[in-house]
Amino acid sequence: MRAGDIAVQTGLATANKRWCEVDFLTFESKAVKNVHVLGDAIQIAPAMPKSGHMANQHGKTCAAAVVSLLMGKEPPKMPLYANTCYSFVTDEDVVHVASVHRYDAEKKTMLTVPGSGGVSARASELEGRYALAWARNIWADTLA
Ligand SMILES: Cc1cc2nc3c(=O)[nH]c(=O)nc-3n(C[C@H](O)[C@H](O)[C@H](O)COP(=O)(O)OP(=O)(O)OC[C@H]3O[C@@H](n4cnc5c(N)ncnc54)[C@H](O)[C@@H]3O)c2cc1C
Repeated sequence: MRAGDIAVQTGLATANKRWCEVDFLTFESKAVKNVHVLGDAIQIAPAMPKSGHMANQHGKTCAAAVVSLLMGKEPPKMPLYANTCYSFVTDEDVVHVASVHRYDAEKKTMLTVPGSGGVSARASELEGRYALAWARNIWADTLA
């Protein structure tokens, strides 16, 4: 697996020639100035999942940073991303995995917030309703 051809051919995919290393405060490529990379194409921080939910959070962090940079200001220093993935194990019953990731200024990477997130104890129909509500919200937010 790797980022798309365009990332490899343009020299953006610097991590093992597969993934694009970025500054997690701005999502600016570490290899090509003024190019910002989001979503599955990036080299993730440890334990940071690749998901549509995370790509949504990358987009918001990047947009806020670009607005700050255009205004000659420092980008926000403490981005915080949440992730939830739901999986249907029957047509009604669902399990989830969730996590929260915060920027660590010293390490210049995203770290999992201790005690955050978790996984379902068991599949349930209630989580099936949460999953559909999550889906409707993330689609509306991302695709609006
Ligand atoms: C089976 C499966 C289940 C998943 N379930 C979930 C889930 O439940 N929840 C969740 O949050 N995430 C889930 N994901 C992960 C989620 O789909 C991805 O993390 C998300 O789609 C990444 O978004 P992206 O925009 O970074 O990349 P993509 O969605 O891959 O979009 C990249 C786009 O760029 C296009 N492209 C490539 N090269 C070019 C080019 N040269 N010019 C123009 N366009 C180009 C591609 O055609 C593609 O449309 C799942 C993934 C899979 C495979």
